[in-house]
Amino acid sequence: MSSVRLSVIVPMYNEEANLPELHARLVRALGRLEMTSEIVYVDDGSTDGTVAELEAILQNPQPVCVHAVHLPQRRGKTGALSAGFAVARGAIFVTTDADLQEPPEILPMLIGRIDSGEADVAVAWRQQRQDTAFRVMASRLFNASMRWLTGISLHDVNCGTKALRPEVAEKLQGWLRSDMHRYLPVLAARMGYRIVEVPVPHVPRRRGRSRFGASRYLRALLDFLPVSLMWWRGWMVWLGLAVLSILSLRFHPIAGGIGLAFAIGWLAVAMLFYLRRNST
Ligand code: UDP
Ligand code: MG
Repeated sequence: MSSVRLSVIVPMYNEEANLPELHARLVRALGRLEMTSEIVYVDDGSTDGTVAELEAILQNPQPVCVHAVHLPQRRGKTGALSAGFAVARGAIFVTTDADLQEPPEILPMLIGRIDSGEADVAVAWRQQRQDTAFRVMASRLFNASMRWLTGISLHDVNCGTKALRPEVAEKLQGWLRSDMHRYLPVLAARMGYRIVEVPVPHVPRRRGRSRFGASRYLRALLDFLPVSLMWWRGWMVWLGLAVLSILSLRFHPIAGGIGLAFAIGWLAVAMLFYLRRNST
């Protein structure tokens, strides 16, 4: 059995500007914990100087064990996390973003909730979000939909900073494709794991910009299809839409036709998307 107690997994796509400060602060924060720790940096096919920064870290002696995983091509945050989970050896996993929006100093709060045996997944709940008004609104809508769908009272399902037991990551492995990292806490809850939320401060991204474009919203919607079918309310939504479209075909062929075409198109796009993502 591995003697490593804690693995911190950081997915990174073009984060050369953030890596030196992130590493220094992470090492300090981990040094204050009485746990043998390792950091797993996953370079998600970066095209900037991230790899060079990582090499520089690896060439110097470090107070914690540092691993670097290099993905030859960009696989997205979910793919990078999945690669990190595969090499992490700790008895507790922590994921966090490289952009320092959730300060590394808060990690012990999440770790404590898992270490005490109280929960299987601890999700950071960002207080006073420091993102654009549009993103905050989209996030509120997303979280409200998740609460309605799942009946689980979570406020920040998609925060990148989480602590979890390795067995949760293992059980979720089959779901870790596309951009499914967004749904990780609700999927874990569906599998019967205990989830807690931990309020944390949030700061604006200091360097670089968000690595997700507007396509994040389309991906979130496409991923919502299989996720929603894990709950009866999800089935009700899709069946309701299909029945409505078929009924309106009778009364209003154009509107009904559009509805049906939309439903079939939606399914086809989702299928193609998954086939493409799974083949990479
Ligand atoms: N990331 C990644 N691959 C991607 C997109 C993002 O590894 O294709 C990493 C990114 O470098 C960061 C984390 O995932 O460490 C979250 O990304 P970002 O901060 O851009 O997301 P946002 O805060 O805008 O949701
Ligand atoms: Mg961020």
